[in-house]
Amino acid sequence: MFACHPTCRTYGLHDKPLGSVARQDRTVLQEWQVILQILANNIKPRSLRLSFICDTRDLQTARGIVESLGCLPLLRDCSIRLGQIPDWSSSALARSMSLQLTGKTPQNLGHPTTLHLPDEVLEHILSFTELVAPFQLEWCPVRGLSPFDCCKTCTDSLLGCCCSFYHAAYATGCTCWRLPLPLFLVSKRMHRIATSIFYSKNTFFIATIHRNCVMWSPEKPLSAPTITTQFFNRLPSNALPHLRSITVGFLDFWPQSAFTHLAITDWRQGIDIMAKSLDLSKFTLSLQIDVPRYPEDECLQACRSIVHSLIHLGRIKRLFVYLSGQSSRYYKTKGKQFETILEKTVLGDDYDAVLHGKYDVNFPLWYDGYSREGPIFQADGRKVWDPKEHGNSDYDYEDYLNFM
Ligand SMILES: [Zn+2]
Ligand SMILES: [Zn+2]
Ligand SMILES: [Zn+2]
Repeated sequence: MFACHPTCRTYGLHDKPLGSVARQDRTVLQEWQVILQILANNIKPRSLRLSFICDTRDLQTARGIVESLGCLPLLRDCSIRLGQIPDWSSSALARSMSLQLTGKTPQNLGHPTTLHLPDEVLEHILSFTELVAPFQLEWCPVRGLSPFDCCKTCTDSLLGCCCSFYHAAYATGCTCWRLPLPLFLVSKRMHRIATSIFYSKNTFFIATIHRNCVMWSPEKPLSAPTITTQFFNRLPSNALPHLRSITVGFLDFWPQSAFTHLAITDWRQGIDIMAKSLDLSKFTLSLQIDVPRYPEDECLQACRSIVHSLIHLGRIKRLFVYLSGQSSRYYKTKGKQFETILEKTVLGDDYDAVLHGKYDVNFPLWYDGYSREGPIFQADGRKVWDPKEHGNSDYDYEDYLNFM
């Protein structure tokens, strides 16, 4: 997990977390009370967006400082961080105060009434919840489905992240997607319906070779890419028949990697699992293959060997092949043709991927499939942080190890 927001790391050391015993800490608390009174007496209700970052040493301090915020009038937006490391109790404190201060505290409307709804109605309602993510859900063996970086809408300052996934924090403006676990835990019936929606309405992205995934892994980099089979083996077995859409990304692609015995074996075993357990007639498979700007024969041969393995899969509903490098001249002429040839090899000459919605269904990834720390833009569009300038990968990795 990141120590803190990338912009914050770039600027170096932080203050120590606040406690309530040391004299310095008590002075800080007194000063804060004065500032708070000025704010409370002068701000107009529902106009201030407050980002409050106070990493605390213990829960008691966290509780005290959160309660002090209660004197403020209603705010427009509120994010509160009480510690760098995720912590359920502090996050819950931050959450209840943020909601209270923005007038969003949920009303208790008595007993849930879902029991009386027929399955189809409940399914329809649940398909509008976070069970259906707005992105392709990228899966990696180390982190599972979790997003890797701050949504960058959690605070206005960009200096400190207040996403509850990464810190003991809560932000009313956070737009990070999270697996809505509570929905799966309501009852057996809800679990069954939630499982079917979650696996059938999302597209899962499996990054077979992923520079960042390996780099951020607390374990040694994976020597053998066995990621496709791991994905299927780790899913609950009752989930497999629900799967409707998977993208397999051959990222950081270099021809040798696709030719290694282990990589090909993993891919073929993955295909065997799909053939055995998925409902192929409803299944869409997308392949995203990174190729150099002007791929040589060896690379094209590797693409063929990846796609040709699918001939034994059986008739799937749709196959989309995307070769990267859309901006290159090669792609505009030969690249697209090559994609079409590959698709037709598997699904026959009559198959037309474009008619089947090839360019309609290319959902964005959470970020870009490579880096969770994309450039950071201010609201006016000015770029305030660029990972290429400030955070070369060696530095980040060391930083990460120190934090662990
Ligand atoms: Zn920081
Ligand atoms: Zn954040
Ligand atoms: Zn967020």
